[in-house]
Amino acid sequence: MSYDPSNIFAKILRSEIPAHKVYEDEVALVMMDIFPQSRGHVLVIPKAASRNLLDADPAALLAVLPLVQKIAKAVKQTTGADGIRLAQFNEAPAGQTVFHLHFHIIPVYEGVEVGGHGGPKADDAELAALAKSIAATL
Ligand code: AMP
Repeated sequence: MSYDPSNIFAKILRSEIPAHKVYEDEVALVMMDIFPQSRGHVLVIPKAASRNLLDADPAALLAVLPLVQKIAKAVKQTTGADGIRLAQFNEAPAGQTVFHLHFHIIPVYEGVEVGGHGGPKADDAELAALAKSIAATL
């Protein structure tokens, strides 16, 4: 299947719809997941267009991984999480719902079960505050 530029993350990358942005550079945009699986769930979205890992340019993957690490460390430090889960889904049967490559950074808290994929929408004020705190940690 080919890349469809009308997907929601492409619209966010073009600033056509709003997002709780944490960070942005020429390689990627980082934002809060509005249906978080835990407090502080962040998405790293490479700007290079691909549906997912399978059709991505290896150079784009190489460019984004250091940022994934940097954001994971900042999310852990900011939220006080005990661990970080990194997730990335490829095609619908594997759980992918938005068809522009992205990496989930999901904080894990000792004794707290991580929510399911596609849970309830988080409070906007809380997401805005988290985005600001993570950005300040970077
Ligand atoms: P995936 O299932 O891996 O494609 O993940 C897509 C993720 O994007 C899910 O975790 C959704 O909660 C999240 N999501 C969907 N729409 C938005 C949006 N407008 N802003 C932020 N996160 C979103």
